[in-house]
Amino acid sequence: MAFPRKVKVLNTTYTVSWPETPEEEAFIETSWGKTQFPTQRILLHRKQLDDQLCESVLHEVIHTCLFQTTLGTDQEFADKYEEQLVYSLTPILLRVLRDNPKLAEYLLS
Ligand SMILES: [Zn+2]
Repeated sequence: MAFPRKVKVLNTTYTVSWPETPEEEAFIETSWGKTQFPTQRILLHRKQLDDQLCESVLHEVIHTCLFQTTLGTDQEFADKYEEQLVYSLTPILLRVLRDNPKLAEYLLS
């Protein structure tokens, strides 16, 4: 299944895509994904398999969720903890949702 091209996080809609310009290619560097908050874009590295791509999308969405919280303006949190938190949480959250389809169905109903 292809990733969604738009993700709405509260009142902000992010466009999700592969990098389209040399500047975006440079921005993403060696990351699987990166979010440009000023332009509301989630960029995904082209060279990743579907399982990694799924984690990358969720990883970036969690970053956008944190951006909406009071932690979103906490530079110390961002510098010290955010990446570790998102990196650690993403595969566990994805596994819980996949292992518990009734939970996902309940949460989305
Ligand atoms: Zn990250």
